[in-house]
Amino acid sequence: MKAKKISIIGGGLSGSLLSIYLAKRGFEVHLFERRPDLRTAKIYAGRSINLALSTRGLNALKKIGLDEEILEDAIPMSGRMMHSKVGELNYQPYGKDGQAINSVSRGRLNLKLIELTANYPNIHLYFNAKCIDVDMDQCIAKFEMEDGSQQTFTSDHIIGTDGAFAATRGRMQITDRFNYSQSYLHVGYKELIIPAAGAGQFQMEKNALHIWPRGSFMMIALPNPAGDFTCTLFMPFEGEFGFSKLQTEADVIAFFNAHFPDAVPMMPTLVEDFFANPTSSLVTVRCYPWVRKDKLALLGDAAHAVVPFYGQGMNCSFEDCVVLDECIEAYGDDWEKIFDEYQKLRKPNADAISELAIQNYYEMADKVGDKHFLHKKHIEHELSALYPDKYKSQYELTTFSLSPYSYALEQGKKNDLLVEHIIASGTESEISDANYMETLWHLLK
Ligand SMILES: Cc1cc2nc3c(=O)[nH]c(=O)nc-3n(C[C@H](O)[C@H](O)[C@H](O)COP(=O)(O)OP(=O)(O)OC[C@H]3O[C@@H](n4cnc5c(N)ncnc54)[C@H](O)[C@@H]3O)c2cc1C
Repeated sequence: MKAKKISIIGGGLSGSLLSIYLAKRGFEVHLFERRPDLRTAKIYAGRSINLALSTRGLNALKKIGLDEEILEDAIPMSGRMMHSKVGELNYQPYGKDGQAINSVSRGRLNLKLIELTANYPNIHLYFNAKCIDVDMDQCIAKFEMEDGSQQTFTSDHIIGTDGAFAATRGRMQITDRFNYSQSYLHVGYKELIIPAAGAGQFQMEKNALHIWPRGSFMMIALPNPAGDFTCTLFMPFEGEFGFSKLQTEADVIAFFNAHFPDAVPMMPTLVEDFFANPTSSLVTVRCYPWVRKDKLALLGDAAHAVVPFYGQGMNCSFEDCVVLDECIEAYGDDWEKIFDEYQKLRKPNADAISELAIQNYYEMADKVGDKHFLHKKHIEHELSALYPDKYKSQYELTTFSLSPYSYALEQGKKNDLLVEHIIASGTESEISDANYMETLWHLLK
């Protein structure tokens, strides 16, 4: 039987991973990417953009044997390092000993995935191929090529992995009963840099995600293997503490001296970087259905762009690939069933991580400096150390497990009730007593 032809539109993180999953199953895969070829174009040259890779993403990479190679160059971050306004440091571990999220380079990860496609003669790559339309019923995608010409490509199935502003989704948006919402956070972001002190020398603790929480705004920094940190300033566009207030060099210097005084001496190119780098926005996209019969499916950010505060957008997109692959395993050649089961399994989880990600903005920016919050975190930490089988924090379930995101969201609410109960009843000193805790576990059911 002739192998089915599958077009994947978007060769970013999830599209390149998915192409390998499908090639391993013997399909004829055609991967179309708007940008030039990463292997020659050096798209990320000069900029270190990093991402936190955690259990779900690693699980997806393991299935193609890439997890260990990616981890070799990753920097484990085992906790948050909070920087107070006067430069005091406070470290909170993310989980138990040995649990860490991993700072990886987005460019390198994407490059590795594209390089790996060379092992599969049934993957065909097309760069500088911008999708401009899709005929969903005929399964035809239309592209604008580098020379301005237009080409069409017909396949058996199309999968849209073309990111938050997906052209593939755009076509679905104008069909009947397609639900769609897009909302921008009032906060935008700007990338800045803390360079290495010398060759490979870190100016701050290497194995932590650094946070400068300041209520309505914050800065974070993730380490890179060369010793530098990529910082991201998250701040409202408008208002008293808004990007719009930082118009001149003097504004920027005064703002950073007032709010991030310990970071300023480590940022020699602060002013240049601030004005050279764009201020970008953060969008949440929700839509449904994600599929059109057996013809088209959306995957990754194309189906569910989330704000980055839980560090899960890529991890979730990689998990989409795992689930779609499992559906192919389960339903053989019944693509209508494959696509439908895939969307039913993933949609509740995409909605959950979307909610968790927005919640986490307020937690990171504001609550990580709050005494009550820190007290709750301390009790949580004790509970998960004392009763690892009974108590798992929302962070642990989201980041260090393969439990559905929807379960992590629900369990987190129950955990909160339990911890608030312990604080309100003044029984914190009794939590090491297993008999006492037996009377409380029902709160987690
Ligand atoms: C500031 C920030 C920080 C983040 N940090 C993290 C983190 O720490 N951890 C984490 O897990 N996630 C993080 N994310 C989220 C993560 O970047 C995304 O979830 C992930 O990139 C989604 O992968 P994707 O392949 O679906 O989309 P993308 O990576 O956006 O890839 C889409 C691809 O499609 C191509 N494309 C677009 N339109 C077309 C077209 N018309 N035709 C052809 N090709 C097209 C694009 O060029 C691109 O290559 C962060 C996001 C942001 C903005």
